[in-house]
Amino acid sequence: MAVEKLVIVGSGPAGLTAAIYAARANLHPLCIEGYNAGGLIPGGQLMFTTEVENYPGFPQGIQGPELMKALRDQAERFGTRFIRDDVSAVDFSRRPFTVQTPDTTVQAHAVIVATGARANWLDLENEQRLAKSGGGVSACAVCDGALPVFRNQEVAVVGGGDSAIEEGSYLTKFAKKVLLIHRRDQLRASKAMQERFFRLVKEGKMEAVWDSVVVDVLGDKTITGLRLKNVKTGAARDLACKGLFLAIGHTPNTELFKSVLAMDDKGYLVLTKAGSTYASVEGVFAAGDVADHVYRQAVTAAGTGCMSALDAERWLAAQGIE
Ligand SMILES: Cc1cc2nc3c(=O)[nH]c(=O)nc-3n(C[C@H](O)[C@H](O)[C@H](O)COP(=O)(O)OP(=O)(O)OC[C@H]3O[C@@H](n4cnc5c(N)ncnc54)[C@H](O)[C@@H]3O)c2cc1C
Repeated sequence: MAVEKLVIVGSGPAGLTAAIYAARANLHPLCIEGYNAGGLIPGGQLMFTTEVENYPGFPQGIQGPELMKALRDQAERFGTRFIRDDVSAVDFSRRPFTVQTPDTTVQAHAVIVATGARANWLDLENEQRLAKSGGGVSACAVCDGALPVFRNQEVAVVGGGDSAIEEGSYLTKFAKKVLLIHRRDQLRASKAMQERFFRLVKEGKMEAVWDSVVVDVLGDKTITGLRLKNVKTGAARDLACKGLFLAIGHTPNTELFKSVLAMDDKGYLVLTKAGSTYASVEGVFAAGDVADHVYRQAVTAAGTGCMSALDAERWLAAQGIE
């Protein structure tokens, strides 16, 4: 079996940027672009969004699928080969590494893991419908919070941890008021974040809706409100709002790498060399959301994708593989 110089797993902004750089460096990369693992498809998370307004270089914004097609075309133009399938098993215990899909087994001198992370949703039918159609439901305030539809409106954030407060306070820059919906009667967030939250409440910019869960999202083309259930009394009520932001965490797509690569307690891959993309096995690199629970943006994923290709190229050169 011929041994690939570099296999890239995943075809979101991280995987495809890695592919562009690796292909231009004559590594002739093979990108296993995914099929439906982790609920994602080739192109990654941005395939499920409409307007991307913060990716540099597009002053008028660009549709997520259009951006991902452009990245893929660019990677292909320089010689990246693609397999449309999910990786189902890996063996990184000996070199060359083995990467398997249900239909193919490949061997590789180096591997870049760029399998991303998926936002946790409530999994309500109307939530998913309105999220996919750009109807005011989102899992990323930094991505969507500044859109005109949310300006000077009441919007809701679901969650009670640090990221819910972070997302909520970001939204106060645009929204008239941010309603924080939490299933308990106190926050899980750190002390500093709680202080920030209660300051914003005092200023009238945020408000807590305690002991409540969202049982339905209301609205036809765009969200008009939420149906809530009080977990203590069981009573249901409707709450009017023009936006819903989920902040109930992300799940990195790393099930495949359990007991293979080091990960933190939430399953994010751990990088072993500061300022690099080195994963815990030499010759394996990690890029994008799969190793980043902080920034989770297309441009940061693309940035670390670039880093991973440069790291892989230099590592391969040091092994005498060019
Ligand atoms: C609805 C939505 C809107 C967003 N809007 C914006 C925005 O406006 N601006 C912004 O900067 N960011 C936005 N984001 C965040 C952004 O999409 C992510 O930060 C970015 O896509 C991460 O890129 P990635 O390459 O690390 O992973 P992903 O985009 O998650 O891609 C992961 C890739 O890995 C593949 N994969 C997974 N498992 C396997 C496997 N076992 N085998 C093979 N392949 C596999 C998937 O098919 C996919 O191709 C948004 C996210 C969502 C969900």
